[in-house]
Amino acid sequence: MKKGKKLYEGKAKIIYATNDKNIVIQYFKDDATAFNNQKKTTIEGKGVLNNRISEHILSNLAKIGIKNHLVKRLNMREQIVKFVEIIPIEFIIRNVATGSITKRLGIEDGTVLKEPLIEYCLKDDKLGDPLVSEQHILAFDWASKNEIDLVKKMILRINDFMIGMFMGVGIKLIDFKLEFGRIKIDGKNEVILADEISPDTCRLWDSITDKKLDKDRFRKDLGDLIPAYTEVAKRLGILHEQSNVSAVNVTQLSSVKRKNK
Ligand code: 5GP
Repeated sequence: MKKGKKLYEGKAKIIYATNDKNIVIQYFKDDATAFNNQKKTTIEGKGVLNNRISEHILSNLAKIGIKNHLVKRLNMREQIVKFVEIIPIEFIIRNVATGSITKRLGIEDGTVLKEPLIEYCLKDDKLGDPLVSEQHILAFDWASKNEIDLVKKMILRINDFMIGMFMGVGIKLIDFKLEFGRIKIDGKNEVILADEISPDTCRLWDSITDKKLDKDRFRKDLGDLIPAYTEVAKRLGILHEQSNVSAVNVTQLSSVKRKNK
């Protein structure tokens, strides 16, 4: 398989074409952005960790029947994924109220929700990914009723699975963002999970201390993002080394793995 031209560059990832029109390469960058691109930096090693964590979660979701775009991880920064037509909606799932919902609705930070709450945001950076309703999605044909119903079912299953997976390693799944895409499988139109699931797209708090182990460390200037993401990877059993992992160690780890291939 040959890597072709860049098809799309987002805030944290790049998509490259391949010589197979159904397959693309997803490259994880070290760039971190927040507040609609107003805050930006590069955090060495973040892409490597997100690639590994997302691979772990998506491959486990596939095992419980959640169809997704991951084919396989190619190297420390790249995955081979199925080419999909992304549904232009960010699906936000909340188990505990924090972040934008607390500001928007005046809900106390940390309020545990009776049931998982699904919110829809239009994927449009220029507009700041505005919150929309199911009616907006139908009115403007961003997705069909059938697609939304399917996605909602998948979301609840994914949430249940991920709550359990993280709970088992002492982490609370507070909220997260998912993206879905359209694809033809055996001539049939299907909707599958796409994008990534990582500490960039989830809020993850330590079960005992509520320490933030996710991108809020960057958004809120808490520092130590790489040690936090490394902690998530270690607890999920993806990284095994004992030492304090720094950005340098993550970079070393990637070169060691490359040499060992
Ligand atoms: P909030 O709406 O509170 O800012 O975010 C809710 C959840 O969705 C958080 O876990 C956050 O990381 C994720 N999320 C929402 N929008 C985006 C986005 O544009 N990019 C990323 N990486 N995550 C997002």
